[in-house]
Amino acid sequence: MKKQEENAAKWALVTGGSRGIGKAICTALAADGYHIIINFVSNVEEAEKTLEAVRAAGSDGELLRFDVSDAQACEKALASWRSAHEGETISVLVNNAGIRKDTLLLWMNPEEWHKVVSITLDGFYNVTKPLVKDMVLNRWGRIINIASLTGLKGQAGQTNYAAAKGGLIAATKALAQEVARKKVTVNAIAPGFVRTDMTDGLPEDELKKLIPMARFGEPEEIAALVSFLASEKSSYITGEVININGGLYS
Ligand code: NAD
Repeated sequence: MKKQEENAAKWALVTGGSRGIGKAICTALAADGYHIIINFVSNVEEAEKTLEAVRAAGSDGELLRFDVSDAQACEKALASWRSAHEGETISVLVNNAGIRKDTLLLWMNPEEWHKVVSITLDGFYNVTKPLVKDMVLNRWGRIINIASLTGLKGQAGQTNYAAAKGGLIAATKALAQEVARKKVTVNAIAPGFVRTDMTDGLPEDELKKLIPMARFGEPEEIAALVSFLASEKSSYITGEVININGGLYS
């Protein structure tokens, strides 16, 4: 990083950071010394709790409310952050926001298709595009996209989610090649089943039988990989998709 930036706060933005995997990522990056921008859409209470966890981990942060699929909202929120933090930049971006609306394609309505695809893919574009510019100019950056096993192998009932996460993986590989020379790395993580609100209600006992490690993953196990990918230790890894699924598939 540039000399004058060495004493400035290092900022990381985590989309969908208020709960689940996003919350664990915020906490892990805070422990690594990053100041955290916790993006959330609706649940202020959960976002506040994540901020408390960030502080308990020894760092600080702030909440930034916007819907990643809303281009104007993203632009406005990021511009307001910039004007409040003149001279500072965000050097780590974790595109974690995502939803699932599972049903067979035969029954899938347009809203179920478009919402899932838009939050993942428009979300990636809306947030990454403004931030990658600063990373390129600063000649250092980390972009970590939370994809899914479904984006690699597909899953019946998740055509929308598979298309979104498969697209995110392809975008990861393309962008990685565009910015590699500027010491900006772009990687994807493909988790299997992780115990969060998203998997609440799934038949865990049945699904565990399919997993060689015979358990769901914990959000902190995903966060540990994000921490590594955000660090200097991962400097020669880019354009990769890293599976983290207890041996389910790789
Ligand atoms: P979660 O539902 O607890 O968290 C998703 C987060 O995204 C929430 O904080 C939610 O508010 C946020 N979000 C949703 N729409 C948003 C929007 N439009 N703008 C901003 N934020 C938005 O689920 P999770 O399991 O913690 O999921 C985190 C990521 O991990 C998701 O991208 C998910 O697809 C992925 N993932 C999860 C699993 C799993 O088993 N839990 C497996 C593979 C991938």
